[in-house]
Amino acid sequence: MIYLDHAAATPVADKVLKAMEPYFGELFFNPSAAYLPAKEVSANYEKAKGVIAHGVGAKASDLVITAGATEANNLAFTAITDGVLYLETEHVSVRRVAEQYDGQAIKVLPNGVIDLEDLKNKITDGVQMISVSLANNELGTIQPLAEIAAIIREVKIDRMKRGIKTQLLLHSDASQALNLLDINVARLGVDLLTLNAAKVYGPKGVGALYVSHDASLSPLTVGGGQERGLRSGTENVPGVIGFAKAMELAKKHLNGNRKKYTNWRKILLAELKNYELINKKHSLDNFVVVSFQGLDAERLIFALEEKGVYVATGAACAASKGEKSHVLKAIGLDDAQIAGSLRITFGETNDETQIHEAAKIINELTMRERARING
Ligand code: PLP
Repeated sequence: MIYLDHAAATPVADKVLKAMEPYFGELFFNPSAAYLPAKEVSANYEKAKGVIAHGVGAKASDLVITAGATEANNLAFTAITDGVLYLETEHVSVRRVAEQYDGQAIKVLPNGVIDLEDLKNKITDGVQMISVSLANNELGTIQPLAEIAAIIREVKIDRMKRGIKTQLLLHSDASQALNLLDINVARLGVDLLTLNAAKVYGPKGVGALYVSHDASLSPLTVGGGQERGLRSGTENVPGVIGFAKAMELAKKHLNGNRKKYTNWRKILLAELKNYELINKKHSLDNFVVVSFQGLDAERLIFALEEKGVYVATGAACAASKGEKSHVLKAIGLDDAQIAGSLRITFGETNDETQIHEAAKIINELTMRERARING
């Protein structure tokens, strides 16, 4: 198997699994219990939260652990009552919740990067939050968060001068970026940041929301008061221990992996034939999005699967519903370009030999498809 869909899911790393195991067995205790072994588990849980937080330049007390990024995104929006702007290429877990708050979409430029002029024009006095992912899940496009934060600072100063007290928060979904960018909440200037263990060789169903002191959230669930009362329910101790280990490994391998993926991207783009490169610039190093004009990517991915190569046509959730990618539409691709688009995302399951092999197989199958179409 040549798995090239690491943006959809990453396998749990061996070291992560090993770190989690004791917490399914001998260290099964409820962290809220009063006896000593439970207190030890509670301390280890807090320590693990500290490691996750430290990975983005924050403190354990700034994090709310959630059951994944969707939940963290939903929690972020409890900071506002209405008035939200979101990037039109956001993941569906941001778009759907933004729609519930009558959110307005900010445009992207043809390269997938936020249109800052459109953003500026849309920040009216009623806007309470702006949500822009750090890196897009279909194109890998990295957004200029620090520039957006600078614009927000100016707007806040102007609002203060005019006596307008409406808050203006910056939320970012960093699900795809954690193991490919050096993330620091202060440098990015975010008030709320979504993290996802499942994309960084940690367990699925584990995420976190970084919350700055400026943001005041409402509970997602009520009950035992865990996670600062914002997400009640017994802590997912193994999940958080695993996430912390995954964060440690992500930091350790960040630079090495980036170099490796940049090289593989070059190799793939040199060896593939008759394609159009879609994510030309401003992209995470492990994303290659290419369009094979005139071909049907849906047919291609099934043919590739038969040869043991796993790739995607766009966000896994959109693809499974048979919907056309809103992201590819937003950057101005026409129907034929969208229909022929493949998303290839490298990761730790790959090696260089696989990249050469994948290029060869993709070339064979695209040639076969073209021959079939041309009769
Ligand atoms: N946000 C982004 C950018 C993603 O790529 C994903 C996963 O596909 C999610 C949110 C949702 O994550 P989860 O399904 O773990 O809640």
